[in-house]
Amino acid sequence: MGEKPVAPFGLRAASPFCGPRACRILSRSTGVAVALFRDQVVVLTLYPYRDRDRVVHTLARDHGRLGLLARGARSPRGVLAPRLMVGNWLEVTYHRGPHASLGTLREVSLVADHQGLQGDLDAFACLEVMVEVADHLGHEGSSEPALFDALCAGLAALEGGAGRRGLVVFLVAALAASGLWGAGDRCEHCGRPWAGEIRELAGEGHALWCEPCGGERGRPFPLGLLLALVRIASPEGERVVLTREQEVRAIQWLTGRIEAQSRRRLKSAAFLNGL
Ligand SMILES: [Zn+2]
Repeated sequence: MGEKPVAPFGLRAASPFCGPRACRILSRSTGVAVALFRDQVVVLTLYPYRDRDRVVHTLARDHGRLGLLARGARSPRGVLAPRLMVGNWLEVTYHRGPHASLGTLREVSLVADHQGLQGDLDAFACLEVMVEVADHLGHEGSSEPALFDALCAGLAALEGGAGRRGLVVFLVAALAASGLWGAGDRCEHCGRPWAGEIRELAGEGHALWCEPCGGERGRPFPLGLLLALVRIASPEGERVVLTREQEVRAIQWLTGRIEAQSRRRLKSAAFLNGL
C-alpha cells in the first residue's frame, strides 16, 4: 500500500515564520502570495473532507477559533491522524490566502495528548465539555490567551486525574476569561452583598440574584457552594474540596450560564449529566 503521507509537511526544516503576524510567501501550487503563521492550538472538532483530508476546528492562542485544512489527514499511514485528535495541544504552522476561510496546515508537532484518558468515560466526557465550551466562548480572529491557557490547564488536570473537579475549575476560568464571571460576593441584579437566600434565575442567563430581586422565581443556589467556587477562582483554589453533589450542581449552573451567554446548547454537558 506504499501510500505517501501528507503533502504539505516537511517542506523545509525550519519554516520562515515571523510570529503571530504573518510573513508573505509564495504558494508552491498557485504561485499566489499567502500569509504564513505559527500558533499553538487545541483541537476542538474534526470533519472528513474530500477523500483524504480533514477540516480541523481549533482554538488558537493568538488567533482564537481557527479552522485548518489538513491535507492527507485521513490517510491511516500518515503522520497526521494520531496528532489530530480532539483535545490535543499542538504547535502548528499554516498558510492562509487573503480571502480564504480556512488556513492550510503545513507543519504540526504535538505538545500534549490525552492517551491517559482512554477507557475513563467520565474524564473523557469532561474533556468533551471543555472543548465544546472553548468552541462556544472563543471568537474567530481574536487572540484568546486566557481561554486557551484555561483549556490547556483544564485538559492537563483531567490527565492528572482531577475528574469533574477539574472541569469545575476550567468552567470558572473559562467564564472569567470571557468576562462572564463576577466577583460572586453580591447580587448580580441589585449589587448588594448576599443576605438571606440566593436564587439562580435561568431566564436571566443563570444569574444569581438575592431573594428580594428574585422573589419566588428561579431556584435556590447554596451559598456554601458559591463561596467554594469563589475560592476556586482565587490563587489558593487548589485547596478547595468539593463533594460529588457540589460538583454536579456547579457544573449544571456553570454550563447553563455558558449556554445562556453563547445561545447554543452544550450537547456534551447533557451527556455528562446523564452519566
Ligand atoms: Zn438583588
